[in-house]
Amino acid sequence: MGIRDTPNPDRPIQDLLRQIPKVDLVLAQEPLAALEARGAYSHGQVLSTTRNHLDDLRKAVLAGQTGQVPDSAAAARAVAGSLERVGAFRLRPVVNATGVVLHTNLGRAPLGPAVASHLAQVAQGYGNLEYDLSKGERGSRYDHVEDLLCQLSGAESALVVNNNASAVFLMLDALCKGQGVAISRGELVEIGGSFRIPDILAQTGARLVEVGTTNKTHPADYRRALEDRAVRALLKVHASNFVIRGFTQEVPLADLVRLARQAGALALYDAGALPLVPLDLPGQDRVPSLREVLATGVDLVAFSGDKLAGSAQAGILAGRRDLIDRIKGNPLTRMVRIDKLSLSALEADLQLYRDPDRARTEIPVLRMLDMTAEECRRRAEALEALVEAQAPGLGLDLAPVRDEPGGGSLPDVQLDGWALAVSAPGLSADGLLAGLRTGPWPVVGRIAQDRVLLSVRTLMPGDDRRVALALAHVVGEADASVGMEPSGSADAEGAVRPESGGGVC
Ligand SMILES: *Cc1c(COP(=O)(O)O)cnc(C)c1O
Repeated sequence: MGIRDTPNPDRPIQDLLRQIPKVDLVLAQEPLAALEARGAYSHGQVLSTTRNHLDDLRKAVLAGQTGQVPDSAAAARAVAGSLERVGAFRLRPVVNATGVVLHTNLGRAPLGPAVASHLAQVAQGYGNLEYDLSKGERGSRYDHVEDLLCQLSGAESALVVNNNASAVFLMLDALCKGQGVAISRGELVEIGGSFRIPDILAQTGARLVEVGTTNKTHPADYRRALEDRAVRALLKVHASNFVIRGFTQEVPLADLVRLARQAGALALYDAGALPLVPLDLPGQDRVPSLREVLATGVDLVAFSGDKLAGSAQAGILAGRRDLIDRIKGNPLTRMVRIDKLSLSALEADLQLYRDPDRARTEIPVLRMLDMTAEECRRRAEALEALVEAQAPGLGLDLAPVRDEPGGGSLPDVQLDGWALAVSAPGLSADGLLAGLRTGPWPVVGRIAQDRVLLSVRTLMPGDDRRVALALAHVVGEADASVGMEPSGSADAEGAVRPESGGGVC
């Protein structure tokens, strides 16, 4: 160690330490100042990365590992580099301008602000996940939402697990192992990935008894299947992601329940997407709620928390208490248990559902499904004006579009909406679409007739400005002053977003 050999060993170190730039000075340098103004990173994120960088520098000087320190500009460049390396999350928020409300690739249901802030609170500390506060002893994580679900739906009992695929699996495994389960041939569906009803049944050790034909199944088909005494359950599966049109017939749930009753068998229903309040979509048949489905007398229904219920990923089972108790006692239930974050979001949404009007305005999925064509048109006009002002030079137009509920929920339903149609001079529609996807806050749209269509139905509060910024970015008009506000501020629509802390992108 050369330093130890000098007559006054601490002198050079003290000098170097003094030369380390002050935090504020580094923050004021480009490119950090611009990055923060643009909203690419939150102030807290830039500040803590800068502090860490300067701390590392101090440690290196003290350890005699460096003989010189950078000036503030060089330090700012190094901090920006490190922000981009660690700050660029792989999984991050995007703007959904596809008009597909429950977009499976984009994470299905977004949460509303009240739910998200409750979730953040639960995430940042300990909670009574499995602790009974009144008794001061071990409690059950399932208790937190069971009563609420029962109150909201009239169910005798309820259970939530990781997702609906596991809920369906548990239901069949706990109740039908070694028995025959009759299903219409028109409902032997593949939901996506490797979730295929016949394979699930095989895995659980239940025996699949196919009933009817692909396009038509009659009550008599079920009756015939039930003559086999080993058939102890009728399973109905919602055709989530396809429609059979033409010469078709299916047995309604209420009739299937009656048939099962007469034979002393169970009536089970994998509803996939089920709303907790009835949905009256413009120009569509009313979509019945969980309460109405249970009113048919079905023994057990399984559905997703993040489809038409509009909440966190979860599988929800509701129905007869004795059946739910058998599932709770199944060792597999522990393997697919719901985590505390999803559970707290689900509970917060269920609280909202106690006031259905409040649920319709505060649960983003319900709000989006409810938007009329006129509302979409007005929102598209506002977006057009904002983009015109902040990203001049683009070809802008309003286009009527058919939006979709998506997410394997209501495959036959299309919603009349409006989109901002954008073209950029000197850029193909593909180029523009790709540019929007790869900007600081990715925007996902689609192409029709050589233009990029940005559907407004699925925009979240504050997304208008992100779209304008992304477009400005693509056409090279990006201007530090047009930036998104740091998280926690009021956005264009006046809604206050909860502090994200993570400061994404
Ligand atoms: C979506 C769906 C599932 C799977 O639900 P996840 O919550 O994605 O696990 C199962 N069955 C039906 C009918 C569905 O629509």
